[in-house]
Amino acid sequence: MNNEKKENEIERLDFVRQIVADDLESDKWEGRVATRFPPEPNGYLHIGHAKSICLNFGIAAEFGGTCNLRFDDTNPIKEEQEYIDSIIADVKWLGWDWQDRLYYASDYFQQMYEWAVDLVKKGKAYVDDLTGDEIRRYRGTLTKPGKNSPYRDRPIEENLDLFEKMKNGEFPDGSKVLRAKIDMAHPNLNMRDPVMYRILHASHPRSGDKWCIYPMYDWAHGLEDSIEKITHSICTLEFENHRPLYDWFLDELGVYHPQQIEFARLNMTYTVMSKRKLLQLVQEKMVNGWDDPRMPTIQGLRRRGYSPAAIRNFCKTIGVNKFNSTIDAALLEYCLREDLNKTSPRVMAVLKPLKLVITNYPQGPTEELDAVNNPEDENAGTRKIPFSRELYIEREDFMEEPPKKFYRLAPGREVRLRYAYFVTCTDAVKDADGNVTEIHCTYDPATKGGDAPDGRKVKSTLHWVSAQHAADAEVRLYDHLFTKENPDEAVEGKDFKSNINPNSLEVLTDCKVEPSLADAKSLDRFQFERLGYFSVDPDTADGKLVFNRTATLRDTWAKIQKQQKA
Ligand code: ATP
Ligand code: MG
Repeated sequence: MNNEKKENEIERLDFVRQIVADDLESDKWEGRVATRFPPEPNGYLHIGHAKSICLNFGIAAEFGGTCNLRFDDTNPIKEEQEYIDSIIADVKWLGWDWQDRLYYASDYFQQMYEWAVDLVKKGKAYVDDLTGDEIRRYRGTLTKPGKNSPYRDRPIEENLDLFEKMKNGEFPDGSKVLRAKIDMAHPNLNMRDPVMYRILHASHPRSGDKWCIYPMYDWAHGLEDSIEKITHSICTLEFENHRPLYDWFLDELGVYHPQQIEFARLNMTYTVMSKRKLLQLVQEKMVNGWDDPRMPTIQGLRRRGYSPAAIRNFCKTIGVNKFNSTIDAALLEYCLREDLNKTSPRVMAVLKPLKLVITNYPQGPTEELDAVNNPEDENAGTRKIPFSRELYIEREDFMEEPPKKFYRLAPGREVRLRYAYFVTCTDAVKDADGNVTEIHCTYDPATKGGDAPDGRKVKSTLHWVSAQHAADAEVRLYDHLFTKENPDEAVEGKDFKSNINPNSLEVLTDCKVEPSLADAKSLDRFQFERLGYFSVDPDTADGKLVFNRTATLRDTWAKIQKQQKA
């Protein structure tokens, strides 16, 4: 019994970690574990990348290995320094450290070129004059073999000469390519003489105008891994069909040969997870930039109030496997709440204020009450909050004619004001249209701190702020960016953008927050009691406080699990 329990307690390794553990056991890589995270700097990182980052850096950390940060910067047209900078910042923010191992594929261009020349010399690569369209047509289909290019059997000398001229800029873009000479009838289309180099007279963010031929991903990636002596080259499932090519290039060159391992990419409900699509949202101004708090980018999540720990924990929770699936966005929020519940200081804030006047409380004097900063953290201590005759409560917490299950404030009813007193509503003041503009209450001084000495109970506790002490704030509330679980499911002729949620942002401009928040710093995180988790938006400046709602307190994930069980 005891043993059985023990076995269950041991965390099972995912299949990638199992391979790494087995390789260490068999000494396949002489005791080394070397991984890399290889982003292309053509956009900002998203939560899917976080999965890959946590896997690669996580494995290195757990098995005493190393993980490189490597920019796969082989396409100068789409790549920018801004993206490089953001990626560096994001990986760091997530808590990972590549030490001195920051690499760029572009630094390997010379070595890649020389290796390509080696393949040409071996008769394993040739210069092709077919156009892109022709190459596509010659490739065949899954059911039909391809056709050899008429240039396929060029003599080696001619290929060497033409390839050098390609490199020297003697030909225009698109006029020639270098292709591997494999097999145009291969059942795997990736093996039908794949393109290795294309001509592109474009300036590269790092190598400038030094090169006008650029390597294709399949050719470049294995070489980058080989140069860096990677042991386990971990990539997403789409590359499974490319693995024979990865292996072919390295085998033909006879160089150091890492093992490529594929895992399922992360997909999540109510969002899109492709840099190309996210870029469209930014360019077409459907969001306010890459770091818009509704974006699934790391910078968006950070601005929204996510902590690195929450994201790392999410990546751990979803695990790693070989089957594509879509993760419920509620699981990410669940992991967020798990962390924020432990770490966020509690404060009081009123989003839609309604004035409450305590008619038997003296005019003028105010008092300070003790409030607990975080009941989940005994070291968090307490703070003083000011109390006075005029307060704000949440408009939603008062109803003139309460329905059956409404236990909050109503005429004649007594409730507790958090950390303060019991109050009883005596009157509601209205404007000419009948809207309640102010409510009047009396308080019971004997209930200071929130309990009645006579033991009488109240059915609800409300949050509040003192009107004269409160700080003004803007609060931005967010909903899913898309209305559909799978935004790519669009009606005929429309794309994912037609599923954008027009109500994904609600801005509240006259919120009142307790005075301790007046000097909150950008990205500080809080729990607003009864309302949710909020963080300070970087737009906050010179006394103008702006908060983002990170998440509500409601745990939809728990509900989903309950439903699944039932
Ligand atoms: P996108 O399709 O969003 O543009 P990408 O794969 O083109 O992504 P890269 O910069 O090439 O972006 O990705 C860097 C690494 O992150 C790669 O190893 C890639 O496999 C991994 N990655 C990208 N998207 C995901 C995802 N959704 N889940 C897990 N890993 C991912
Ligand atoms: Mg890519």
